[in-house]
Amino acid sequence: MRPQLILIGAPGSGKGTQAKKLISEFGYNHVSTGDLLRAEIQKGSDLGERVKSILDAGNLVDDQTVLDLLNANCDIANSTYIFDGYPRNLEQSRALDSEVLKGASSKAIYFDVDLEILVERIVNRRVAMKSGEIYNLITRPPKTPGKCDVSGEDLVHRKDDTEETVRNRMNVFIENVEPVLAYYEQSGRLYRVKASESSTEVFEKIKNLITK
Ligand code: AMP
Repeated sequence: MRPQLILIGAPGSGKGTQAKKLISEFGYNHVSTGDLLRAEIQKGSDLGERVKSILDAGNLVDDQTVLDLLNANCDIANSTYIFDGYPRNLEQSRALDSEVLKGASSKAIYFDVDLEILVERIVNRRVAMKSGEIYNLITRPPKTPGKCDVSGEDLVHRKDDTEETVRNRMNVFIENVEPVLAYYEQSGRLYRVKASESSTEVFEKIKNLITK
């Protein structure tokens, strides 16, 4: 059984893109707490109503809410997951071990990159909600402006991908990441990749990591 994979990185560091490749090559299941929260907002559920303004501002939703949502959407005993966007702080790292993984083997991958590059990357990011394709207006523009190459659906500029919110999301990330990295380092599960390399190079490194 392959290890459960925990992807740690700033917004826009390439976690979602690598997750997509890992799913198609190794059959991992993807669990993104950001996607789960956005789905609740889209559905207009009570939870969605409660968290909407938090996401719009780029702040963190409370730990218990996110943990409950995560637990409701994964079945560790029977599947292998990529955790994308969780954990975001030390408490969540501990909760992932004690309440979700419960002893399942896991590896954490840190997408190390200069944060200034990321602000530009995210502001230019456009996503296709159904196909999951991720574009960049500068480095990976769609063939037809505003449309997904794969599904033809309209591309979306996430509401929290504006410069002001992105800067706040970066600050939230910087404030919380060090204890998370130290936590995985101490338990010998931390692997670092240079996320400024091409997505193909990053993927090769991750592949080596999970197959060895
Ligand atoms: P993401 O798609 O991972 O960039 O997440 C988008 C937003 O969802 C974040 O800015 C937070 O508001 C919220 N969010 C996602 N994952 C978490 C988490 N693990 N803990 C708290 N809030 C989260």
